[in-house]
Amino acid sequence: MERAMGKERPRPLIAGNWKMNGRRADGLALARAVAAGAGNIGAELLVCPPATLLAPVGEALAGTAVALGAQDCHPAPSGAYTGDIAAPMLADLGCRYVILGHSERRAGHGESDALVRAKAEAALAAGLIAIVCLGETEAERDRGEAFAVAARQLAESLPEGAGGTNTVIAYEPVWAIGSGRTPTAGDIAALHGHLRAELAKRFADAARFRLLYGGSVKPGNAKEILAIADVDGALVGGASLKAEDFLAIAMACP
Ligand code: PEP
Repeated sequence: MERAMGKERPRPLIAGNWKMNGRRADGLALARAVAAGAGNIGAELLVCPPATLLAPVGEALAGTAVALGAQDCHPAPSGAYTGDIAAPMLADLGCRYVILGHSERRAGHGESDALVRAKAEAALAAGLIAIVCLGETEAERDRGEAFAVAARQLAESLPEGAGGTNTVIAYEPVWAIGSGRTPTAGDIAALHGHLRAELAKRFADAARFRLLYGGSVKPGNAKEILAIADVDGALVGGASLKAEDFLAIAMACP
C-alpha cells in the first residue's frame, strides 16, 4: 500500500482550492503566509483563489515558490459569454494551473464529462496545466461503481493532447469533500492504482501524471494519505484556508 522506496515518482503537488472564500485582505494575508512558509518544502505548492483574487494574489506570489491557479475556465478562447473567464485570460494573469470538473461544478453547474474535456482542451491550448477532478458519489460507491465511475470520467474528461506534464488528475470522492470522512488508505490505493492502469492504456507517459487525492485532507491524516502508492499530492479545500494547516499538509509529503 505504501509508496515503493526508491521508485521514481513525480514531484508531489499540494494544491489549495479556496473555493468562494476570501476578500482581498484575507486572500493576500493567506497567500503571503503560505509563501513565507514554502521555503523548505519539497512538494510543489499551488493556491487557487476565487477569480476576484487572482490578480492581487498573483502579484503577492510573484517571485515566490508558490504557483497560482484558477478554479474554472470556459472552453472558448474569447467571446460573448457573460460572466465567464477564458483560459488565455488566466494564463495572461500568471496562472499556471486551472482546476476543472470539480464535483461542486459538475453537480451545481451541470458540467458533463464532455464539457470538462472541452475546458481541459482550452486550458492546454492556453499553456495551462489542467487539474481534472473526478470521483464517485456515495450512492455510486454503495452500488460498487466507484472504479467504473472514475474510469469513465477519466476516459471522457481528458482531451487528446493530455499528458503527464500538462495534466493532473484529482480523485475526490464526492462524499469525502468537506465532510471530515475519508476512504481507507487501502481504498485510496486501490482506486489510484486503477486510475494509473487506465491511464497506461491510453498514455505512454502514464507514470508521469500526478494523481492527487482530495476530500477532507487535514494535517492529522495527511502523512498517511500522502504515503500511499500512486498518491502524488493532494487537492485541499477547507484546510487550505489556514496557512498553518496547508503548510503542515505539504510538509507531510514523503
Ligand atoms: C475540495 O473541494 O476540493 C476539497 C478537497 O475540499 P475539502 O478538503 O474541504 O474536503
